[in-house]
Amino acid sequence: MNTDLSQLPVAVIGSGPVGLAAAAHLIERGLTPVIFEAGDAPAAAVRAWGHIRLFSPWQYDVDAAARRLLAGTDWQEPDAETLPTGAELLEQYLQPLAAVPAIRNALHTNSEVVAVSREGLDKTRTGGRDTTPFLVRVRNTDGTTADHRVRAVIDASGTWSSPNPLGSAGLAAPGEAEAYAEGFITAPLPDVTGRDRARFAGKNILVVGAGHSAANTLLALGELAEQEPGTRISWAIRRSSAASVYGGGDLDGLPARGALGSRLRTLVEEGRIDLHTSFTITGFKSADTLTVVGSTPCGETQLDVDLLVPATGFRPNLDMLREVRLDLDPAVEAPRALGPLIDPEFHSCGTVTPHGARLLAHPEKDFYITGMKSYGRAPTFLMATGYEQVRSIVAALAGDQKAADDVELVLPETGVCSTDLGGSCDTVAGCDTGDAADQGDVSCCGTPEPAAAPAAESCCGTPEPEAAAPAVPAESCCSAPAPAFLGIPTGLAHGRSTEQE
Ligand SMILES: Cc1cc2nc3c(=O)[nH]c(=O)nc-3n(C[C@H](O)[C@H](O)[C@H](O)COP(=O)(O)OP(=O)(O)OC[C@H]3O[C@@H](n4cnc5c(N)ncnc54)[C@H](O)[C@@H]3O)c2cc1C
Repeated sequence: MNTDLSQLPVAVIGSGPVGLAAAAHLIERGLTPVIFEAGDAPAAAVRAWGHIRLFSPWQYDVDAAARRLLAGTDWQEPDAETLPTGAELLEQYLQPLAAVPAIRNALHTNSEVVAVSREGLDKTRTGGRDTTPFLVRVRNTDGTTADHRVRAVIDASGTWSSPNPLGSAGLAAPGEAEAYAEGFITAPLPDVTGRDRARFAGKNILVVGAGHSAANTLLALGELAEQEPGTRISWAIRRSSAASVYGGGDLDGLPARGALGSRLRTLVEEGRIDLHTSFTITGFKSADTLTVVGSTPCGETQLDVDLLVPATGFRPNLDMLREVRLDLDPAVEAPRALGPLIDPEFHSCGTVTPHGARLLAHPEKDFYITGMKSYGRAPTFLMATGYEQVRSIVAALAGDQKAADDVELVLPETGVCSTDLGGSCDTVAGCDTGDAADQGDVSCCGTPEPAAAPAAESCCGTPEPEAAAPAVPAESCCSAPAPAFLGIPTGLAHGRSTEQE
């Protein structure tokens, strides 16, 4: 058996923006990548949300080594200031990058990594571990598997294929698997006015979740309902108020984002979206329609719908890493030292301290989790962060520790806050008497709050202005650590610890 590790390739799991950037850095450093992609084409996850417009402009979406690789082709770099859609990111950057011969020849599509281990060594075996090749087990579309020997592994497989369950306590609710199997629960972020229109038109649809992906889907459904009579929209959230989804309105540093939240608030106040707050899903019954059973402070509630769109965030798939020695933050499931920097309890901005190989390392030598997956359950990952991660990781693998340690991260000053793509906060409070359309959000035990002048009760009982711009770190609730403010104002205090449930 060949144990000269330097002769073996480096496995990159996933060909999203960060996996492809890792490959570009490996090629630049003279290392050989072998890239495994579960989808039938590169960047399958980005393709799935291609209809969504990014909030960071092109200048932050292109990796430096990828740009250098593409410079040798007829690629035209898109305008730095423009915000692409996911589809444009794919067509104008990721596909040309994946087509560069050095990457194309290394890329295996329809190749899902199902396990990573060390050749001949399970996780408990220590002797010779660091000098033993990794074994990457890959499942092909026909169900067969093949084992690949590699010298190092960069896991850039994202989190798109592991949405959080809809039930409470981080677990699937009874009947959830059947509801998925019956096709009642869709993929996250469906293209309801485009590709998936026929499936949604005229239907009774429930959106579950309280992040930006819920807001995106609800606004698109609102548009669909105007054109397709009979389309009905409900929205269920665990929180007692949708205020954090509406955002900071006029106080938001990004007017377009503030306007988005305001539009959503209007749809709810006009009764075109039926909002159910403090709603915890306790079960599903699949028949001709889907019955969603919820517990609310007012008792059990049942909603009968044709389709449910999950927008409850994502979590990393760690099953395939069962035989790898990992060191993860126990809450966030990010590398241990990274966890506290991005914990959604205290952070809602994408800005993070520059970090690279050293911080992302695990006890398993030469194994790294990078990209969206490196953020574990935190939703604020930015591609620019991933590009710096892989630059540093590849430098470390190439033996250039100085370059690996010399981490820099220049993030956009705008457009990075409040990128929550869906949280999974469990705590609920109060009893929603239901008529949010007329009353705005309903506060504890049914007392309506005026929608026009939102104010939230703090958990210590002192009313706090909800829409204060956090120019200084916001006071957190009941002595939870105060979150630092970085980035532009969102008009909201930061992190879930500042939210009223
Ligand atoms: C709707 C949306 C909008 C976003 N907007 C922005 C933005 O404006 N700016 C920004 O900086 N970030 C944004 N992000 C966040 C983030 O940058 C993107 O999700 C980005 O695509 C993450 O890149 P990635 O390469 O880490 O993961 P992904 O793009 O998710 O790629 C992972 C790849 O791995 C493949 N894969 C998964 N499992 C396996 C397996 N077991 N074996 C082999 N292959 C596998 C997948 O098919 C996929 O192609 C957005 C995210 C979403 C969802």
